[in-house]
Amino acid sequence: MTVQAKTRDGDPAVEVSVVIPVYNEEESLDHLHAELLPILESLGKSFEIVFVDDGSTDRSPEILRQFHEKDHRIRVILFTRNFGQQRANAAGLHYTRGRAIILMDADLQQPPQHIPEFLAKLNEGFDIVYGRRKQIRGPLLRRIGSRGASFLIRRLTGLNMKDCSSNFLALDYKLVRRINMFRDESRHLGSLFAWLSYGRCAEVIIEKRDRKYGESKYSLWKLVGVVLSLIFSLTPKPLMYITFAGALVLVFSGVLALRALWVAFAKGITSAETPLLIAALFLIGGLQLFSLGIVGEYIGRIYGEVRDRPHYVISEIHEDGEVKEP
Ligand code: UDP
Ligand code: MG
Repeated sequence: MTVQAKTRDGDPAVEVSVVIPVYNEEESLDHLHAELLPILESLGKSFEIVFVDDGSTDRSPEILRQFHEKDHRIRVILFTRNFGQQRANAAGLHYTRGRAIILMDADLQQPPQHIPEFLAKLNEGFDIVYGRRKQIRGPLLRRIGSRGASFLIRRLTGLNMKDCSSNFLALDYKLVRRINMFRDESRHLGSLFAWLSYGRCAEVIIEKRDRKYGESKYSLWKLVGVVLSLIFSLTPKPLMYITFAGALVLVFSGVLALRALWVAFAKGITSAETPLLIAALFLIGGLQLFSLGIVGEYIGRIYGEVRDRPHYVISEIHEDGEVKEP
């Protein structure tokens, strides 16, 4: 069956579109296909699945190409290399042709059985529906990190999403078109929603499953990097915080200087002062380096934005039975 595409900016061509980023998911893809398709078919609505392969080096691209050959409701976008999940999501949202857009991972950690609930909420008039995990699974550090990241994002953006790192979302196409207009380097959806301050947000409680096939694509360090980069792209507040910290150190060093003067005049200098002096020097030096690092993060981001490079590079698009030029 072929989905007749209207223009991307015209009326949506299909009712439901599922966007899935894929990075080295060869073990999972067949299971995903087997579980997801019957659910979509049972909806009784026209649908498409948009797989975005984020530069996989395993058999994922091959499997995806075969999916498309057998079923043109499945469209496949291949990146030239790994650009990261957020950008794969962005490409999927750009190429989607659905009225309701579901965003989910390829690893089946989010049960697709929730999709009808998501769609029902969209039908009620909500613009964003997100899957809120009942409990966060995984190693302790990961759980703390996940909760911490959600908390930070909520505080920094004022976004009313309790589970900001949820990548199981349903979006109304009008919202997606607005998101597609953004040219920011950072493609974190939550922060774009927050900036837009548009749309009514609903949640569906989901039971996130353990990963059965393949491994997580995020090491702890990669996650720390994601969260830090998110904070720097969300808000200039850290710059303000270091200004405060600088002012505090200034006051503190003023007090220390006065005290040193008093000690020198009243009692004569003792050798006990030296370690204190060294500690103070290290404190100030450390603070300066730390501040420089934070300022550097913002400058790096400005550099990235000014260069205005494409956010991703597509090598192949498989749709309507053809391989199209991107
Ligand atoms: N992913 C991606 N590019 C990446 C890393 C991950 O497209 O650089 C995809 C991955 O294939 C999966 C989704 O993003 O579909 C979430 O990744 P993962 O399940 O590894 O994250 P976790 O659930 O461990 O947070
Ligand atoms: Mg996962």
